[in-house]
Amino acid sequence: MPRRVIPVADLSAAPVITGPVQTPRGVLRDTLARPLRDLRISVTDRCNFRCVYCMPREVFDKNYAFMPHSALLSFEEIERLARLFVAHGVEKIRLTGGEPLLRKNLEFLIERLAQLTTPAGRPLDLTLTTNGSLLERKARSLKDAGLNRVTVSLDALDDTLFRRMNDADFAVADVLNGIAAAQAVGLEPIKVNMVVKRGTNDSEIVPMARHFKGSGAVLRFIEYMDVGTSNGWNMTEVLPSAEVVARIAEHFPLAPLEAHSAAETAQRWGYVDGGGEIGVISSVTRAFCGDCTRARLSTEGKLYLCLFASSGHDLRALLRSGASDAEIGTAVAEIWQGRGDRYSQLRGSSAAISSMPDGRRVEMSYIGG
Ligand code: SAM
Ligand code: SF4
Ligand code: SF4
Repeated sequence: MPRRVIPVADLSAAPVITGPVQTPRGVLRDTLARPLRDLRISVTDRCNFRCVYCMPREVFDKNYAFMPHSALLSFEEIERLARLFVAHGVEKIRLTGGEPLLRKNLEFLIERLAQLTTPAGRPLDLTLTTNGSLLERKARSLKDAGLNRVTVSLDALDDTLFRRMNDADFAVADVLNGIAAAQAVGLEPIKVNMVVKRGTNDSEIVPMARHFKGSGAVLRFIEYMDVGTSNGWNMTEVLPSAEVVARIAEHFPLAPLEAHSAAETAQRWGYVDGGGEIGVISSVTRAFCGDCTRARLSTEGKLYLCLFASSGHDLRALLRSGASDAEIGTAVAEIWQGRGDRYSQLRGSSAAISSMPDGRRVEMSYIGG
């Protein structure tokens, strides 16, 4: 059987620096005046789940060619790039994947990243998104390494449905135990992400809200997105966040809360009785590109400026060519200053379609959520 590789439309080459090389310093702004503040780093393209909306088993099967270890950025390379991004204004780093807890010795990377400080001397906001399956075992070592908090994905409380969605026979209890362990060691505030697929798990919206109300964890509902090309996305399966809020409010009255910051992706709603809050991330029905301050670094060191990009900028090639910090920092600056991506705002328009000439996009498991 031939090895199968999902095309990621990789048109990327090592960035070419067009201006004078300068030591990286100061906040960068893109063509829409958006600063570079957040960096999401994918540390592996592998996962022990096969979520139907992300890594469907028909595609990510035993013949799927995951990246060889030599292709991955080493921890030294990740730390070096992270340091240059921080010099350019990044204040928050999120580790993701694939399943980040599958990357061997991830704690060593966290220890290195936890040492970084912003130019003003503040520590970074260092976090990680996980499916939770290994969290019970790892919560303590992650905390000790310097991780601040975690976001845990959980799409249902009904065990049969959850096993069907993760398609790898993991039980809800594994994830709930992981969340409890993370709370016990203080990896807080914990966020719990639920991707809502109409007709698949929307029956779980109210039970999930009931379960996490008053628990200290903030449950966030994410609209099912058209990331990648392998999940067969269809608009009819998107349940608008407004409907999520309405369904919960029928049981537990809600009132809108102020955003923590302009770049916050979730709209916050508080339980009127004081039982905490929920968030809704309306990537499809209410695009927030205008405030998008996120860059993404793929497992093999390509810099992506949008979750829906079809190509990245090959920073690994620069790193491995012996480029200096000033050269890499200058390349990052030029790339960010040229950024005009706003896919969600343009979704469905001819501009969005022409931004992807071959219709292919990177997969979420490759670029990280
Ligand atoms: N494996 C980890 C996890 O599941 O938390 C981290 C990587 S995962 C790609 C990051 C986040 O993206 C998860 O919360 C996941 O539910 C979300 N996600 C994946 N595919 C999605 C899609 N098509 N639409 C919306 N969210 C998606
Ligand atoms: Fe794995 Fe996360 Fe994708 Fe699910 S959403 S398949 S857990 S990477
Ligand atoms: Fe940011 Fe792209 Fe998402 Fe818009 S579509 S919010 S630019 S990642």
